[in-house]
Amino acid sequence: LAVDIGGTKLAAGLVCSDGKVLYHSQVATPSTLDPEALFATLAALVTSTLRGEGTDAMPCPAEIVVCGVGCGGPMSRMPETVSPLNIPAWRGFPLAERLAKLTGLPVHVDNDAKALTLGEGWIGAAKGVQDFMGMVVSTGVGGGIVLDGRLLDGAGGNAGHVGHIIVEPEGRICGCGSRGCLEAEASGTAILAITGRPPSEAGEAVVARTGMLVGRALASVANLLDLQLAVVSGSVALGYGEPFFAAAREEYKGRANLSFSKSGRIVPGELGSMGPLVGAGAVGWRAIGHPLFTSGT
Ligand SMILES: [Zn+2]
Repeated sequence: LAVDIGGTKLAAGLVCSDGKVLYHSQVATPSTLDPEALFATLAALVTSTLRGEGTDAMPCPAEIVVCGVGCGGPMSRMPETVSPLNIPAWRGFPLAERLAKLTGLPVHVDNDAKALTLGEGWIGAAKGVQDFMGMVVSTGVGGGIVLDGRLLDGAGGNAGHVGHIIVEPEGRICGCGSRGCLEAEASGTAILAITGRPPSEAGEAVVARTGMLVGRALASVANLLDLQLAVVSGSVALGYGEPFFAAAREEYKGRANLSFSKSGRIVPGELGSMGPLVGAGAVGWRAIGHPLFTSGT
């Protein structure tokens, strides 16, 4: 069972051990400040998904063994709670515990950008690659790092927060309190604030600058971690397409000059609209020891 918690929609589906999505459904995220009202909407979605409602697959043909969840950060481990920045109703909300009670399944929650990174490494643009970074450039900027065939977690599970790499030392104040973070300069929210228009209406110069800053951050990451590949997804990056990627690669070329980093590639994600659910499924499969990477652990 895969569950994706987003600021605009909640999605649930079944993801097989080979990454195939059996079926899925979604609802708009209710704009409420009541944590229980939001959970009730999610619970109804999950329950109908487990029943296979609205699909030809009834009754559910699969044995469901685990629930994986992708959710906006930050999160905490002890106790295990989520506080997604874009969902104010949930602050310190015990999502894993509540879903476990609801479904009777073991539930594993991870950051949505880390989940998407797992998905791209499992069956997407980084399939078969042991060392890469996944990045999501949308409302915010998130990411995940796979090193030696393993997704990095860090002390609190928040490893890979690439949005807070400094790309403009004298740049805009970031939501984190720092200045010139990638997220403060290149996220959809930042582009709206800088240009006064939605990111989808940005002109060539904004697209090129956004790509350039992403390439700058990725060069630092590749130099630090000996990575060969960055997979970039998210509505801003994929919406801008080739001019964005060309600018990212150009900047990368000038800033990743070490023998091991200079041949690194920056490519678009391949999972499309199913990415978040495939990623959430991967979170679940990973938690119960299912191998996601060809020769990884
Ligand atoms: Zn920041």
